[in-house]
Amino acid sequence: MAETKGKMEISAKIKYGNGIIIDRDLKILFDPIISDFISFVSHAHSDHLPNYIATLPITTKETKELAKLKIKDFNSLTFEYGKKVKYFDIYFTLYDANHILGSYIAYIELDGKTILYAPDFRLESFNKDVDILIIESTFGDPNIIFPDTDEVIDKLIRWIKSKEVQNKKIEIGAYALGKAQEVIKILNEHSIYPRVTKTIEKYNKVYEKFGIKLICDEKSKIIIRPMHETIYNPLPNHERAVVTGWAAVRKFENAIGFEISDHLDFKGLVNFINSINPKIIYTFHGFAEIFAKELRNLGYNAFSLNSL
Ligand SMILES: [Zn+2]
Ligand SMILES: [Zn+2]
Repeated sequence: MAETKGKMEISAKIKYGNGIIIDRDLKILFDPIISDFISFVSHAHSDHLPNYIATLPITTKETKELAKLKIKDFNSLTFEYGKKVKYFDIYFTLYDANHILGSYIAYIELDGKTILYAPDFRLESFNKDVDILIIESTFGDPNIIFPDTDEVIDKLIRWIKSKEVQNKKIEIGAYALGKAQEVIKILNEHSIYPRVTKTIEKYNKVYEKFGIKLICDEKSKIIIRPMHETIYNPLPNHERAVVTGWAAVRKFENAIGFEISDHLDFKGLVNFINSINPKIIYTFHGFAEIFAKELRNLGYNAFSLNSL
């Protein structure tokens, strides 16, 4: 019983505040607004980056480069995937989150307990012992199920080809960091070479620097633009598509949606959790309450961080 009690002691100190906090003498912060104490910054999407750095956060070197494009004087301590590090009184290991370049999930060992911080990620399973799982719930609603990605890619390529034979211009909207590069890669694999906006090109260069080849062609009739531009400021005389997980649950007025996501859908999240079988789960982001409730129905000890 003492074991269980100890675990609860740590978990009771997990809360929202400056990011997600493990509240102890030397605080551990996850994706905080102010990087301080021991701070984990999981990836370079704006909603995960600190806006002030008091002590350097823990990132990958890829994230550091990408973050510098958004925050000029961004700095961090960089670590590699898969290497166990002793840092103050904790051990941590970063694993590739398969979300965007440089993104990680963090496995932390402290006081004999194991914690997995899994913010934006796209992994089928995790095969280490986890006492406490802190997990995103962007698509944690049981109504959000993505169709098979290979089929969606097929549909996207067929749609592009059908427009190409009609000699039409094509605009594809995708998040500038992460999704746009994923779309370029998919198109390249089908011998399609699009052009991109300046913002997207800037991120492409970092991807290329880390060995991900992205081939663009300035003369292409296909342009990839940041998704909000395609939705709110579309180019005239273009056939339009957006590539986003949200296409699984909403229609776009002026564009056809393709459901390719760098997050897991509801089923994916549940499968990931089943592969771990954690003792306690904290959900955050998106459908945190709904997701925690669904997990409790499945027999898990799950709570939304919003309601703590
Ligand atoms: Zn993200
Ligand atoms: Zn996010």
